[in-house]
Amino acid sequence: MERSRKKRNFIIERIDSMIEQIFHNPDIYRIDVPLMGNPLKNLNSYVIKDNGESLVIDTGFRNEECLQVLMEGLKKLGISKEHTNLFVTHLHSDHLGLAQYFDYPDTRIYMGQRENYYFRKLLHGEVREERTRLYLAEGYPPKKYHEADNRNPARVFMPNKDFAVAEVTDGAHIRAGDVEVTALEMPGHTPGLMCCYLEKEKVMFTSDHVLFDITPNITNWPGMENPLGCYLKNLDRILEYEVLYAFPAHRNLSDKTLQQRVGEIKSHHEKRLQEIRDIIKKKPAGAYEIAAGLTWSMRGAPWEKAPEKQKWFAVGETLAHLEYLMGEGEILREQRETDRGWRHFYILK
Ligand SMILES: [Zn+2]
Repeated sequence: MERSRKKRNFIIERIDSMIEQIFHNPDIYRIDVPLMGNPLKNLNSYVIKDNGESLVIDTGFRNEECLQVLMEGLKKLGISKEHTNLFVTHLHSDHLGLAQYFDYPDTRIYMGQRENYYFRKLLHGEVREERTRLYLAEGYPPKKYHEADNRNPARVFMPNKDFAVAEVTDGAHIRAGDVEVTALEMPGHTPGLMCCYLEKEKVMFTSDHVLFDITPNITNWPGMENPLGCYLKNLDRILEYEVLYAFPAHRNLSDKTLQQRVGEIKSHHEKRLQEIRDIIKKKPAGAYEIAAGLTWSMRGAPWEKAPEKQKWFAVGETLAHLEYLMGEGEILREQRETDRGWRHFYILK
């Protein structure tokens, strides 16, 4: 629902350089957890505190800086990690990296059922194996692929100890004191990402489903059909909820409405799809070659000079768009034998 409103300052009270109160009644805080050396820059760990109970939403990477900032932040808010519940919105390590530190008899670590299933697959290396096979078939040079894959922060900062998960499904209600939190499954960015919605307060924690300063990464997931198609559907779905306050998992809170931002993200993907159609029209190619022909904002560097890690993400994004066009019946994927083995080629139908 579109509402016009003046530029607002979300900060109700700044507690220190890393913590601010952003909502009153119930009290909601944002802990600004730095993601050093990562282009995402930070993770917003949100804390709902009400009537002697609390719910922390997302944690940061499993590394020293994140651990220190998050634990210091909770301490300043008078919350002990032994007695707070945690909601992990999705399996990326910047969101669940520190989950193991909340595994106590009196706590619950909530996570979407589908997301937990994929998280386990990821932990056991199953997603990695399948993805490697696919990316090489897409023409990714093997040496460069392994170089990027080995340094992927998704793996480096993952939990290194198992923890008990309370699985939730779409529409589940969780309580934090008197506050009712509804878990909404919005697959796309990951296979089972969840947003948290406070219906009464019209607050939506959008996780990485909708970010305001950057475009959420949509990539290929082994076993998940058409992730971009799912994502676009769930961009429409999130607009079905009345939201006055949208709190994203990274960077800044914004004055834009959810509707405005969803519109911008959709037009980004439409442009990207058109670029891909234009490339395939000229010549059938695999995802690696197609990605090299697209416009990316890799800090101004041309494709050849872009960091390998960024190319790795770019190929994933390209694959998600190619799967979408396949799903729409616009293109086909062909397996062809080349002098470097069997490769995928995308052709217009
Ligand atoms: Zn993410």
